[in-house]
Amino acid sequence: MPMHVIYGGTFDPVHHGHLRLALEISDRLGVDYVSLVPCHIPPHRGQTGASSSQRLELLRLAVAGEPQLRIDDRELSREGASYTADTLRQLRAELGPDEPLVMVVGTDAFAGFDRWREWQQIPGLAHVVVVRRPGPALDPSSEPARLLAERGVESPEALHDSPCGCVLELDPPLLDVSATGIRERIGDGRSPRYLVPDSVWTEIRRQGLYGACPDGNF
Ligand code: ATP
Repeated sequence: MPMHVIYGGTFDPVHHGHLRLALEISDRLGVDYVSLVPCHIPPHRGQTGASSSQRLELLRLAVAGEPQLRIDDRELSREGASYTADTLRQLRAELGPDEPLVMVVGTDAFAGFDRWREWQQIPGLAHVVVVRRPGPALDPSSEPARLLAERGVESPEALHDSPCGCVLELDPPLLDVSATGIRERIGDGRSPRYLVPDSVWTEIRRQGLYGACPDGNF
């Protein structure tokens, strides 16, 4: 039985931290590909630096030629805010009741999981893979910690045995890159080269995104 894995984010812009993580997840979970799901209007964040179509274009350039990474742009075509529960419900309807569906989140995002809209519905729709990121550990008395204690599984194989409902913590190597750092660097006139694919940086400069100077050097 195949397994469907989604990895959501603002990708403003996509960078090597995202891309390496998605590839690691694909390898560790034993799936053919991971779908990157850019969100339209992140419910927990303010304005993005680039428009939806610009972020999507950068993602397309970033994954070109990499069969283990795909893009699912459904949240960009939906009106208004994108809620994960809506996306998972839609995917569940497409995949049918039996195919395992997995959503990937960082520990930072998972720590606020109980503030997501309809968060209690999510384990009934998908498995959750929590990727350990540097920063504070989960508060042991929080709802997300309770969810992990109740539903935690030890190995990726367990996710293949049921369609939803498990939480798996993974601790893959992470690159110390953030989109915030990249936007700041570009805004300051410094190069983000080697933090993002060259094709992404070329397009950022071509369109003058994040304050990049179109005819600046590499
Ligand atoms: P920003 O700096 O704008 O907050 P970001 O670089 O953290 O952005 P997002 O699009 O917000 O990127 O992140 C999407 C997902 O990717 C989140 O689950 C986040 O935890 C994860 N993520 C972000 N940066 C990295 C990284 N360097 N390595 C692994 N995961 C990352």
